[in-house]
Amino acid sequence: MKFIDLHTHSSASDGTDSPAQLVAKAHAAGLAAVAITDHDTLSGLDEGQQAGRDLGIEVVRGCEISTGTELGELHILGLWLPQNPQPLLDRLCWLREKRAERNMGIVQKLQDLGYDISMEEVLAAARGESVGRPHIAEVLLRKGFAKDVRQVFREFLGSRGKAYLPKTVLEPEESVSLLASAGATVCLAHPLLWRAPAGWLDTMVARLKDYGLSAIEAYHSEHSEADIRTCLALAKRFDLGVSGGSDYHGSNKPTIRLGQGYGGLRVSQSVYEGLKQRRMSAGLDI
Ligand code: AMP
Ligand code: ZN
Ligand code: FE
Ligand code: FE
Repeated sequence: MKFIDLHTHSSASDGTDSPAQLVAKAHAAGLAAVAITDHDTLSGLDEGQQAGRDLGIEVVRGCEISTGTELGELHILGLWLPQNPQPLLDRLCWLREKRAERNMGIVQKLQDLGYDISMEEVLAAARGESVGRPHIAEVLLRKGFAKDVRQVFREFLGSRGKAYLPKTVLEPEESVSLLASAGATVCLAHPLLWRAPAGWLDTMVARLKDYGLSAIEAYHSEHSEADIRTCLALAKRFDLGVSGGSDYHGSNKPTIRLGQGYGGLRVSQSVYEGLKQRRMSAGLDI
């Protein structure tokens, strides 16, 4: 049996492998397919797809969008994006502008606290067009202001950190509609990363299905066996597809391995075939 990974980040956002390196690693790991799902950018997809064609591994064009609800963030994955989904590209561009404003605010806070860090250094740490806290973290670490990434987030960049600023996020409904209108498979990412009160997630899934949600990410590095079962039941109840991926970020999250998560994750190729089948039934391209 072959395996897949439908949730990964390249250096186009906050992963450390270039899209081509990431695809080469997926191929070397024997995966049948890999999706590149960078935060707020599609800029790594052409390079990743070309590498896939060269090596003979299927590369799915994707992205991940953070959204806000009254209780916490929900992340939405778009899979099988077309080449130039214009309204989506415009919205992602706007989100990256908001990221730039936030990053500058965070750097300013750090400077006000007496830390010698500049926006130029942050931009040099980022190799792609979607820049965020992991790149600021890299500079802080390199300059010896913390001993590891965990400490950077605890002290400075996490929601209780000294230099924290919230991120501008879209509404889940808008993100789902944008991706669905582009013809993507719209997947609720790691729905059990945090515990919502009983019934809340069901209500949200029902609501988002009306806007075009088409799948649930059941298999994820942070999901337990019980979480996976909960997600599979949710998908079944609402007649949604099932997806899965590691949320690989290269050495920014060194304990997560491509296709394997923390070690135990295996997403079967049948999950991939199931999603493709659903797309074909819905008359969507694959
Ligand atoms: P941003 O989109 O700029 O808010 O950055 C979010 C990213 O920061 C996540 O996707 C993670 O890669 C990373 N991140 C968030 N919290 C932590 C943490 N406690 N430790 C390490 N990385 C984190
Ligand atoms: Zn990330
Ligand atoms: Fe996420
Ligand atoms: Fe992710």
